[in-house]
Amino acid sequence: MDQIECVIIGAGVVGLSIARALALEGRDVLIIEKEDAFGLHTSSRNSEVIHAGIYYPKNSLKAQLCVKGKELLYEYCEIRNIPHKRVGKLIVATEDFEVETVKQYIPKAIDNGVGDLVWLSQEEVRELEPEVRSVGAVFSPSTGIIDSHNYMLNLLGDAERAGAVVVYQTTIASIKPERNGFVVETVGLNAHEIKAEIVVNAAGLYACDIGRAVADLDENLIPQPFYAKAHYYSLSGRNPFKHLVYPVARKDSLGVHVTVDMGGAARFGPDLDWIKGIDYSFDNSRQKLFYDAIRRYWPCVNRDQLQPSYTGIRPKISGPNEPAADFLIQSHRDHGMKGLINLYGMESPGLTASLAIAEMVNRLIEPDA
Ligand SMILES: Cc1cc2nc3c(=O)[nH]c(=O)nc-3n(C[C@H](O)[C@H](O)[C@H](O)COP(=O)(O)OP(=O)(O)OC[C@H]3O[C@@H](n4cnc5c(N)ncnc54)[C@H](O)[C@@H]3O)c2cc1C
Repeated sequence: MDQIECVIIGAGVVGLSIARALALEGRDVLIIEKEDAFGLHTSSRNSEVIHAGIYYPKNSLKAQLCVKGKELLYEYCEIRNIPHKRVGKLIVATEDFEVETVKQYIPKAIDNGVGDLVWLSQEEVRELEPEVRSVGAVFSPSTGIIDSHNYMLNLLGDAERAGAVVVYQTTIASIKPERNGFVVETVGLNAHEIKAEIVVNAAGLYACDIGRAVADLDENLIPQPFYAKAHYYSLSGRNPFKHLVYPVARKDSLGVHVTVDMGGAARFGPDLDWIKGIDYSFDNSRQKLFYDAIRRYWPCVNRDQLQPSYTGIRPKISGPNEPAADFLIQSHRDHGMKGLINLYGMESPGLTASLAIAEMVNRLIEPDA
Protein backbone atom coordinates (compact mmCIF):
# COMPACT_ATOMS: atom_id res chain seq x y z
CA MET A 1 0.00 0.00 0.00
CA ASP A 2 1.31 3.47 -0.94
CA GLN A 3 1.80 5.96 1.89
CA ILE A 4 1.51 9.74 1.72
CA GLU A 5 1.16 12.40 4.39
CA CYS A 6 -1.77 14.37 2.89
CA VAL A 7 -4.46 13.50 0.37
CA ILE A 8 -6.42 16.42 -1.05
CA ILE A 9 -9.64 15.37 -2.76
CA GLY A 10 -10.47 17.70 -5.66
CA ALA A 11 -8.41 19.97 -7.90
CA GLY A 12 -10.76 22.95 -7.87
CA VAL A 13 -9.59 26.33 -6.66
CA VAL A 14 -10.14 25.36 -3.00
CA GLY A 15 -8.33 22.01 -3.22
CA LEU A 16 -5.45 23.59 -5.15
CA SER A 17 -5.08 26.45 -2.64
CA ILE A 18 -5.00 23.97 0.22
CA ALA A 19 -2.53 21.70 -1.60
CA ARG A 20 -0.25 24.70 -2.20
CA ALA A 21 -0.41 25.82 1.43
CA LEU A 22 0.33 22.34 2.82
CA ALA A 23 3.11 21.66 0.29
CA LEU A 24 4.74 25.02 1.13
CA GLU A 25 4.69 23.92 4.79
CA GLY A 26 6.90 21.02 3.71
CA ARG A 27 4.19 18.35 3.80
CA ASP A 28 3.94 15.53 1.23
CA VAL A 29 0.79 16.18 -0.76
CA LEU A 30 -1.16 14.10 -3.27
CA ILE A 31 -4.10 15.75 -5.05
CA ILE A 32 -6.68 13.29 -6.36
CA GLU A 33 -9.01 14.54 -9.09
CA LYS A 34 -11.69 12.54 -10.87
CA GLU A 35 -11.68 14.62 -14.08
CA ASP A 36 -8.81 14.75 -16.60
CA ALA A 37 -7.81 18.33 -15.75
CA PHE A 38 -8.04 20.77 -12.82
CA GLY A 39 -10.90 23.20 -12.25
CA LEU A 40 -13.49 21.68 -14.56
CA HIS A 41 -16.46 22.09 -12.20
CA THR A 42 -17.52 25.14 -10.14
CA SER A 43 -14.07 26.76 -10.32
CA SER A 44 -14.46 27.36 -14.06
CA ARG A 45 -18.21 28.00 -14.03
CA ASN A 46 -18.52 31.16 -11.97
CA SER A 47 -18.45 34.98 -12.31
CA GLU A 48 -14.67 35.38 -11.73
CA VAL A 49 -15.31 38.27 -9.38
CA ILE A 50 -13.00 39.15 -6.50
CA HIS A 51 -15.69 39.99 -3.97
CA ALA A 52 -15.26 42.80 -1.46
CA GLY A 53 -17.10 41.03 1.40
CA ILE A 54 -20.28 43.10 1.53
CA TYR A 55 -23.24 40.79 1.86
CA TYR A 56 -22.33 38.12 4.37
CA PRO A 57 -23.49 38.08 8.02
CA LYS A 58 -21.06 39.70 10.46
CA ASN A 59 -18.50 37.23 11.87
CA SER A 60 -19.59 34.47 9.47
CA LEU A 61 -16.84 32.39 7.86
CA LYS A 62 -17.94 33.78 4.48
CA ALA A 63 -17.39 37.36 5.70
CA GLN A 64 -14.07 36.70 7.43
CA LEU A 65 -12.56 34.47 4.74
CA CYS A 66 -13.77 36.70 1.88
CA VAL A 67 -12.23 39.87 3.33
CA LYS A 68 -8.96 38.16 4.25
CA GLY A 69 -8.95 36.15 1.02
CA LYS A 70 -9.46 39.27 -1.11
CA GLU A 71 -6.36 40.87 0.45
CA LEU A 72 -4.27 37.72 -0.06
CA LEU A 73 -5.56 37.23 -3.60
CA TYR A 74 -4.74 40.77 -4.79
CA GLU A 75 -1.27 40.40 -3.29
CA TYR A 76 -0.76 36.99 -4.95
CA CYS A 77 -2.01 38.28 -8.33
CA GLU A 78 0.47 41.18 -8.15
CA ILE A 79 3.42 38.92 -7.30
CA ARG A 80 2.53 36.33 -9.96
CA ASN A 81 1.33 38.71 -12.69
CA ILE A 82 -2.02 36.94 -12.77
CA PRO A 83 -4.42 38.93 -14.97
CA HIS A 84 -6.79 40.80 -12.63
CA LYS A 85 -8.28 44.27 -12.30
CA ARG A 86 -9.89 46.31 -9.50
CA VAL A 87 -12.71 47.42 -11.79
CA GLY A 88 -15.09 48.38 -8.97
CA LYS A 89 -18.74 47.49 -8.65
CA LEU A 90 -21.99 49.47 -8.64
CA ILE A 91 -24.99 48.11 -6.75
CA VAL A 92 -27.79 50.09 -8.30
CA ALA A 93 -31.18 51.17 -6.98
CA THR A 94 -33.44 51.34 -10.03
CA GLU A 95 -36.48 52.64 -8.12
CA ASP A 96 -36.80 55.04 -5.16
CA PHE A 97 -38.04 52.25 -2.88
CA GLU A 98 -34.71 50.38 -3.37
CA VAL A 99 -32.55 53.29 -2.17
CA GLU A 100 -32.72 52.41 1.55
CA THR A 101 -31.92 48.73 0.85
CA VAL A 102 -28.91 49.68 -1.26
CA LYS A 103 -27.67 52.25 1.28
CA GLN A 104 -27.82 49.54 3.97
CA TYR A 105 -24.90 47.79 2.23
CA ILE A 106 -22.59 50.55 3.52
CA PRO A 107 -22.95 49.79 7.28
CA LYS A 108 -23.22 46.05 6.52
CA ALA A 109 -19.85 46.16 4.74
CA ILE A 110 -18.33 48.19 7.61
CA ASP A 111 -19.44 45.41 9.99
CA ASN A 112 -17.32 43.04 7.88
CA GLY A 113 -14.31 45.37 7.89
CA VAL A 114 -14.96 46.83 4.43
CA GLY A 115 -14.97 50.59 4.90
CA ASP A 116 -14.61 51.88 1.34
CA LEU A 117 -18.18 51.78 0.00
CA VAL A 118 -19.66 55.11 -1.07
CA TRP A 119 -23.11 56.29 -2.13
CA LEU A 120 -23.27 57.81 -5.63
CA SER A 121 -26.08 60.02 -6.90
CA GLN A 122 -27.89 59.37 -10.17
CA GLU A 123 -25.59 61.88 -11.93
CA GLU A 124 -22.44 60.32 -10.49
CA VAL A 125 -23.58 56.87 -11.64
CA ARG A 126 -24.26 58.29 -15.10
CA GLU A 127 -20.72 59.65 -15.25
CA LEU A 128 -19.31 56.19 -14.53
CA GLU A 129 -21.80 54.20 -16.60
CA PRO A 130 -23.70 56.45 -19.05
CA GLU A 131 -26.12 53.71 -20.18
CA VAL A 132 -27.12 52.46 -16.72
CA ARG A 133 -30.53 53.57 -15.44
CA SER A 134 -30.58 54.18 -11.69
CA VAL A 135 -31.74 56.56 -8.99
CA GLY A 136 -28.36 56.11 -7.29
CA ALA A 137 -25.93 53.36 -6.39
CA VAL A 138 -23.40 52.15 -3.87
CA PHE A 139 -19.89 51.89 -5.32
CA SER A 140 -17.44 49.25 -4.10
CA PRO A 141 -13.93 50.19 -5.30
CA SER A 142 -12.22 47.02 -4.01
CA THR A 143 -14.34 44.60 -6.06
CA GLY A 144 -12.38 43.17 -8.97
CA ILE A 145 -12.10 40.52 -11.64
CA ILE A 146 -9.56 37.74 -12.12
CA ASP A 147 -8.53 35.21 -14.75
CA SER A 148 -9.42 32.20 -12.60
CA HIS A 149 -7.80 29.63 -14.91
CA ASN A 150 -4.48 31.45 -14.73
CA TYR A 151 -4.88 31.70 -10.94
CA MET A 152 -5.40 27.93 -10.61
CA LEU A 153 -2.44 27.27 -12.91
CA ASN A 154 -0.26 29.30 -10.55
CA LEU A 155 -1.58 27.52 -7.46
CA LEU A 156 -0.86 24.14 -9.03
CA GLY A 157 2.58 25.32 -10.19
CA ASP A 158 3.49 26.43 -6.64
CA ALA A 159 2.20 23.18 -5.16
CA GLU A 160 4.12 21.04 -7.68
CA ARG A 161 7.34 23.03 -7.22
CA ALA A 162 7.00 22.34 -3.49
CA GLY A 163 6.73 18.61 -4.25
CA ALA A 164 2.96 18.02 -4.53
CA VAL A 165 1.72 15.50 -7.08
CA VAL A 166 -1.65 15.52 -8.84
CA VAL A 167 -3.36 12.48 -10.33
CA TYR A 168 -6.30 12.85 -12.70
CA GLN A 169 -9.09 10.50 -13.77
CA THR A 170 -8.97 8.98 -10.31
CA THR A 171 -12.02 8.94 -8.06
CA ILE A 172 -12.20 8.50 -4.32
CA ALA A 173 -14.32 5.45 -3.58
CA SER A 174 -13.97 5.06 0.21
CA ILE A 175 -12.08 6.39 3.22
CA LYS A 176 -11.52 4.17 6.23
CA PRO A 177 -10.13 5.58 9.44
CA GLU A 178 -7.42 3.51 11.09
CA ARG A 179 -4.63 4.06 13.63
CA ASN A 180 -2.86 7.37 12.86
CA GLY A 181 -4.67 8.06 9.63
CA PHE A 182 -6.89 6.73 6.89
CA VAL A 183 -6.92 4.17 4.11
CA VAL A 184 -8.13 5.92 0.97
CA GLU A 185 -9.40 3.69 -1.81
CA THR A 186 -9.45 5.11 -5.34
CA VAL A 187 -10.87 3.81 -8.61
CA GLY A 188 -10.05 4.85 -12.18
CA LEU A 189 -6.69 5.48 -13.85
CA ASN A 190 -4.73 5.27 -10.58
CA ALA A 191 -6.77 2.67 -8.69
CA HIS A 192 -4.96 2.19 -5.38
CA GLU A 193 -5.21 1.90 -1.65
CA ILE A 194 -3.28 4.76 -0.08
CA LYS A 195 -2.45 5.28 3.56
CA ALA A 196 -2.70 8.97 4.49
CA GLU A 197 -2.36 10.83 7.79
CA ILE A 198 -4.39 13.79 6.57
CA VAL A 199 -7.39 13.78 4.22
CA VAL A 200 -8.93 17.03 3.01
CA ASN A 201 -12.32 16.76 1.33
CA ALA A 202 -12.46 19.67 -1.16
CA ALA A 203 -14.78 17.90 -3.59
CA GLY A 204 -17.12 20.86 -4.14
CA LEU A 205 -20.51 19.69 -5.40
CA TYR A 206 -19.56 16.14 -4.37
CA ALA A 207 -18.28 16.95 -0.86
CA CYS A 208 -21.34 15.48 0.88
CA ASP A 209 -20.89 12.21 -1.11
CA ILE A 210 -17.29 12.09 0.08
CA GLY A 211 -18.49 12.70 3.65
CA ARG A 212 -20.76 9.67 3.30
CA ALA A 213 -17.82 7.63 1.91
CA VAL A 214 -15.94 8.02 5.24
CA ALA A 215 -16.58 4.91 7.33
CA ASP A 216 -17.90 5.63 10.84
CA LEU A 217 -18.33 9.38 10.27
CA ASP A 218 -21.39 10.57 12.20
CA GLU A 219 -24.08 10.97 9.50
CA ASN A 220 -25.75 13.76 11.45
CA LEU A 221 -22.71 15.93 10.73
CA ILE A 222 -22.99 15.55 6.94
CA PRO A 223 -25.26 18.26 5.52
CA GLN A 224 -27.85 17.60 2.83
CA PRO A 225 -26.61 18.93 -0.54
CA PHE A 226 -28.77 21.26 -2.64
CA TYR A 227 -27.93 22.30 -6.19
CA ALA A 228 -28.77 25.78 -7.48
CA LYS A 229 -28.06 26.15 -11.18
CA ALA A 230 -26.85 29.37 -12.76
CA HIS A 231 -26.96 30.41 -16.44
CA TYR A 232 -24.71 33.02 -18.05
CA TYR A 233 -25.31 34.95 -21.27
CA SER A 234 -22.52 36.80 -23.03
CA LEU A 235 -23.12 40.14 -24.70
CA SER A 236 -22.39 40.15 -28.41
CA GLY A 237 -21.31 43.39 -30.04
CA ARG A 238 -20.22 46.58 -28.26
CA ASN A 239 -19.69 46.42 -24.47
CA PRO A 240 -20.67 49.73 -22.85
CA PHE A 241 -19.76 48.62 -19.29
CA LYS A 242 -16.53 49.58 -17.53
CA HIS A 243 -17.57 48.40 -14.06
CA LEU A 244 -19.50 45.50 -12.62
CA VAL A 245 -23.17 46.41 -12.25
CA TYR A 246 -25.37 44.55 -9.75
CA PRO A 247 -29.03 44.92 -8.89
CA VAL A 248 -30.31 44.66 -5.29
CA ALA A 249 -29.44 41.17 -3.99
CA ARG A 250 -32.20 38.57 -3.68
CA LYS A 251 -32.64 36.25 -0.71
CA ASP A 252 -30.69 33.41 -2.33
CA SER A 253 -28.46 35.09 -4.95
CA LEU A 254 -26.89 38.38 -5.93
CA GLY A 255 -29.26 38.79 -8.90
CA VAL A 256 -28.49 38.88 -12.64
CA HIS A 257 -25.52 41.22 -12.85
CA VAL A 258 -23.03 42.41 -15.46
CA THR A 259 -19.43 41.32 -15.18
CA VAL A 260 -16.64 42.16 -17.53
CA ASP A 261 -13.86 39.67 -18.13
CA MET A 262 -10.15 40.31 -18.55
CA GLY A 263 -10.64 40.43 -22.33
CA GLY A 264 -13.10 43.34 -21.89
CA ALA A 265 -16.20 41.32 -22.85
CA ALA A 266 -19.42 41.62 -20.83
CA ARG A 267 -21.55 38.77 -19.60
CA PHE A 268 -24.74 38.55 -17.59
CA GLY A 269 -25.61 36.12 -14.85
CA PRO A 270 -26.19 34.17 -12.82
CA ASP A 271 -29.87 33.36 -12.44
CA LEU A 272 -30.95 30.75 -9.92
CA ASP A 273 -32.76 27.50 -10.59
CA TRP A 274 -32.98 24.76 -7.95
CA ILE A 275 -32.24 21.41 -9.59
CA LYS A 276 -32.09 17.80 -8.37
CA GLY A 277 -28.67 16.67 -9.67
CA ILE A 278 -25.56 17.90 -11.43
CA ASP A 279 -26.54 18.90 -14.98
CA TYR A 280 -24.72 21.66 -16.89
CA SER A 281 -27.04 21.75 -19.94
CA PHE A 282 -28.07 25.24 -21.08
CA ASP A 283 -31.79 26.12 -21.07
CA ASN A 284 -32.17 29.00 -23.51
CA SER A 285 -35.80 29.49 -22.56
CA ARG A 286 -34.40 31.54 -19.66
CA GLN A 287 -33.36 34.32 -22.06
CA LYS A 288 -36.64 36.20 -21.47
CA LEU A 289 -36.01 36.22 -17.67
CA PHE A 290 -32.54 37.62 -18.29
CA TYR A 291 -33.82 40.24 -20.71
CA ASP A 292 -36.45 41.43 -18.19
CA ALA A 293 -33.93 41.53 -15.32
CA ILE A 294 -31.24 43.36 -17.34
CA ARG A 295 -33.45 46.03 -18.90
CA ARG A 296 -34.42 47.28 -15.43
CA TYR A 297 -30.92 48.77 -15.13
CA TRP A 298 -29.84 48.76 -18.82
CA PRO A 299 -32.82 49.81 -20.93
CA CYS A 300 -30.75 49.74 -24.17
CA VAL A 301 -30.35 45.97 -24.03
CA ASN A 302 -31.30 44.20 -27.23
CA ARG A 303 -32.50 40.64 -26.67
CA ASP A 304 -30.64 39.36 -29.75
CA GLN A 305 -27.33 40.45 -28.20
CA LEU A 306 -27.73 37.89 -25.38
CA GLN A 307 -25.86 34.76 -26.43
CA PRO A 308 -26.00 31.52 -24.39
CA SER A 309 -22.63 31.12 -22.70
CA TYR A 310 -22.29 28.55 -19.89
CA THR A 311 -23.84 27.26 -16.68
CA GLY A 312 -22.57 26.60 -13.18
CA ILE A 313 -24.04 24.99 -10.07
CA ARG A 314 -23.85 26.38 -6.54
CA PRO A 315 -22.88 23.65 -4.04
CA LYS A 316 -25.45 24.68 -1.44
CA ILE A 317 -26.14 23.14 1.94
CA SER A 318 -29.32 25.13 2.61
CA GLY A 319 -32.51 24.64 0.63
CA PRO A 320 -34.81 27.04 -1.24
CA ASN A 321 -36.82 28.09 1.81
CA GLU A 322 -34.01 28.24 4.33
CA PRO A 323 -31.66 31.08 5.27
CA ALA A 324 -28.37 30.93 3.32
CA ALA A 325 -25.87 28.66 5.08
CA ASP A 326 -22.32 29.66 5.92
CA PHE A 327 -19.25 27.73 4.69
CA LEU A 328 -19.07 24.56 6.81
CA ILE A 329 -15.48 23.47 7.54
CA GLN A 330 -15.30 20.50 9.89
CA SER A 331 -12.19 19.17 11.61
CA HIS A 332 -11.54 16.63 14.38
CA ARG A 333 -12.99 19.18 16.81
CA ASP A 334 -16.37 18.58 15.16
CA HIS A 335 -16.27 14.89 14.20
CA GLY A 336 -13.50 13.44 16.35
CA MET A 337 -11.38 12.04 13.48
CA LYS A 338 -7.89 13.53 13.69
CA GLY A 339 -6.54 14.51 10.27
CA LEU A 340 -9.88 14.70 8.43
CA ILE A 341 -11.10 18.07 7.12
CA ASN A 342 -14.43 18.31 5.32
CA LEU A 343 -15.35 21.46 3.39
CA TYR A 344 -19.07 21.69 2.62
CA GLY A 345 -21.14 24.41 0.93
CA MET A 346 -18.14 26.10 -0.72
CA GLU A 347 -20.22 28.38 -2.91
CA SER A 348 -19.54 32.07 -3.53
CA PRO A 349 -17.26 33.72 -2.37
CA GLY A 350 -15.09 30.57 -2.44
CA LEU A 351 -12.87 31.78 -5.29
CA THR A 352 -12.12 35.06 -3.50
CA ALA A 353 -11.70 33.32 -0.16
CA SER A 354 -9.57 30.41 -1.41
CA LEU A 355 -6.17 31.51 -0.03
CA ALA A 356 -7.72 32.33 3.36
CA ILE A 357 -9.55 28.97 3.40
CA ALA A 358 -6.18 27.30 2.79
CA GLU A 359 -4.63 29.17 5.74
CA MET A 360 -7.52 28.06 7.94
CA VAL A 361 -7.22 24.40 6.91
CA ASN A 362 -3.47 24.56 7.49
CA ARG A 363 -4.13 25.73 11.07
CA LEU A 364 -6.84 23.12 11.67
CA ILE A 365 -4.57 20.17 10.86
CA GLU A 366 -1.94 21.19 13.40
CA PRO A 367 -1.87 18.49 16.12
CA ASP A 368 -2.96 20.82 18.92
CA ALA A 369 -5.54 22.81 16.91
C1 LIG B 1 -22.64 30.48 -10.44
C2 LIG B 1 -21.49 30.70 -9.51
C3 LIG B 1 -20.86 31.94 -9.48
C4 LIG B 1 -19.80 32.15 -8.61
N1 LIG B 1 -19.15 33.34 -8.65
C5 LIG B 1 -18.12 33.55 -7.82
C6 LIG B 1 -17.41 34.78 -7.86
O1 LIG B 1 -17.64 35.62 -8.72
N2 LIG B 1 -16.44 34.99 -6.94
C7 LIG B 1 -16.15 34.07 -5.98
O2 LIG B 1 -15.31 34.36 -5.12
N3 LIG B 1 -16.77 32.87 -5.96
C8 LIG B 1 -17.72 32.59 -6.86
N4 LIG B 1 -18.35 31.38 -6.87
C9 LIG B 1 -17.89 30.36 -5.93
C10 LIG B 1 -16.63 29.63 -6.42
O3 LIG B 1 -16.71 29.37 -7.80
C11 LIG B 1 -16.52 28.33 -5.63
O4 LIG B 1 -16.56 28.62 -4.25
C12 LIG B 1 -15.24 27.56 -5.92
O5 LIG B 1 -15.02 27.44 -7.30
C13 LIG B 1 -15.33 26.20 -5.27
O6 LIG B 1 -14.13 25.51 -5.55
P1 LIG B 1 -13.95 24.02 -5.07
O7 LIG B 1 -12.55 23.69 -5.30
O8 LIG B 1 -14.52 23.87 -3.69
O9 LIG B 1 -14.96 23.17 -5.99
P2 LIG B 1 -14.80 22.64 -7.49
O10 LIG B 1 -14.23 23.63 -8.38
O11 LIG B 1 -16.13 22.06 -7.87
O12 LIG B 1 -13.75 21.46 -7.35
C14 LIG B 1 -14.05 20.24 -6.72
C15 LIG B 1 -13.27 19.16 -7.45
O13 LIG B 1 -13.43 17.92 -6.78
C16 LIG B 1 -13.45 16.90 -7.75
N5 LIG B 1 -14.08 15.69 -7.18
C17 LIG B 1 -15.36 15.59 -6.78
N6 LIG B 1 -15.59 14.35 -6.31
C18 LIG B 1 -14.43 13.66 -6.42
C19 LIG B 1 -14.05 12.32 -6.11
N7 LIG B 1 -14.90 11.41 -5.58
N8 LIG B 1 -12.77 11.94 -6.37
C20 LIG B 1 -11.87 12.83 -6.90
N9 LIG B 1 -12.21 14.11 -7.22
C21 LIG B 1 -13.45 14.52 -6.97
C22 LIG B 1 -14.26 17.52 -8.88
O14 LIG B 1 -14.07 16.86 -10.12
C23 LIG B 1 -13.77 18.96 -8.87
O15 LIG B 1 -12.71 19.17 -9.79
C24 LIG B 1 -19.39 31.12 -7.73
C25 LIG B 1 -20.02 29.87 -7.78
C26 LIG B 1 -21.05 29.65 -8.68
C27 LIG B 1 -21.69 28.31 -8.75
